[in-house]
Amino acid sequence: MTLLIKNGEIVTASDRYTADILCVGDTIAQIGRELTAPAGTEVIDATGKFVFPGFIDPHVHIYLPFMGTYSKDTYETGSKAALIGGTTTLIEMCCPARSMSAEEGFELWLAQAEGKSACDFSFHLGVTRFDDATEAQLRAIVRRGVSSFKVFLAYKGAFGIDDTELYRTLKLAAELGVVVTAHCENETLIAERQKELLAAGKIDPAQHHESRPPTVEAEGVHHLLTFAELTGASTYIVHLSCREALAEAVRARQRGVRVAVETLIQYLLLDKSYAERPDFEGAKYVMSPPLRDRSNQAVLWHGLRDGLIQTVATDHAPFDFVRQKPLGREDFTKIPNGIPSLEDRITLLYTHGVAAGRIDLHTFVDVASTQAAKQFGLFPRKGTIQLGADADLVVFDPKHRGVISAKTQAMNVDYSAFEGWPIQGRPDVVTVRGEVAVRDGKFVGRIGRGQFLARPTRSVPSAPAR
Ligand SMILES: [Zn+2]
Repeated sequence: MTLLIKNGEIVTASDRYTADILCVGDTIAQIGRELTAPAGTEVIDATGKFVFPGFIDPHVHIYLPFMGTYSKDTYETGSKAALIGGTTTLIEMCCPARSMSAEEGFELWLAQAEGKSACDFSFHLGVTRFDDATEAQLRAIVRRGVSSFKVFLAYKGAFGIDDTELYRTLKLAAELGVVVTAHCENETLIAERQKELLAAGKIDPAQHHESRPPTVEAEGVHHLLTFAELTGASTYIVHLSCREALAEAVRARQRGVRVAVETLIQYLLLDKSYAERPDFEGAKYVMSPPLRDRSNQAVLWHGLRDGLIQTVATDHAPFDFVRQKPLGREDFTKIPNGIPSLEDRITLLYTHGVAAGRIDLHTFVDVASTQAAKQFGLFPRKGTIQLGADADLVVFDPKHRGVISAKTQAMNVDYSAFEGWPIQGRPDVVTVRGEVAVRDGKFVGRIGRGQFLARPTRSVPSAPAR
């Protein structure tokens, strides 16, 4: 199978030039001007368009039993939506219940994806408890190519681990060269504040923010990074939402703590006034950490521009507005958390980042693809355009104009948090290892084409822990 993409303007995190790309089999075989194609090659004319490396969403949920229900997407619907949106690799959070072993959890999540995904995928392994049996299982799963863990400092009683478990997880990660991704919020503060608000009759979606204000997140970041400092583990803060939390990460970095930061497209574009909308509509906008005061958006955009924040993800977690969000109609703590956005991350980031002049094209590619590949052991197979890399490519038409709507989306959920938002540009053609999966913005790919990506561990840092 050969594919020739002609005359596109290739943009990576570091380069920009016009050339043809010849893909043979799964990988990029040639890059140059006026390439000639062997007979039988499919030729795509990318004149006037950008060619980006396939985008990577390093934080999604596809299979998620959570808060008494299940998130709506499957790998079939989720990978289709991802590809239409230009995302060719998903890293999903594998989140076993505390009652489940790490091994059972990993097998369960893997089974949801294998043979059912149209795009490539990998997992962060949720460590939702840690004992001697867990440790042996984690070592075995890391050897199978899962080189990142996920820990929750929030969600008391569900996924959350205690400080002893956190310490032991980070020690093991440091030994193995595994990156620990972390949900940072102080679970005790949240639980106490939730009780107080409910006792005072404050039950509506807007109270979600009051139960977990920025200080609660900043404490979580500080807490994790104190443990990282003393164990030497490499860490990655997921879904950072506010200036207070970013300040803690930057301070830790200055002390030598290894920490990368992810923010979400939702925090860059939505603010807490959405969750304050009347008649329970605010429930569409409930996620954790919560949407923040608008003043945080500029802090996050500047963080991307200046390299303080490495990645933009989605934390995609779709729950229907009509049937599932109402589980929390009388109690905001029971609203299933999540704002679906897997399909819209790239077009929104391009529209409000690049086209609006907030970030340049290289930063756009870096935060939406290259950095995720580098953080999680996929670079340069993924995250850039070069000889030998996987031919995951996005031919992007910057002149396209469209409008986001739940009526036309591929995500399997009954609303869009960005309903009616205009977008500039869209992925016209998307390839998965040399095979066209999206043409004219429509899915033409193959369920089962996606592969599990085994990822190597990092070389263990030579500097000793303190
Ligand atoms: Zn998440």
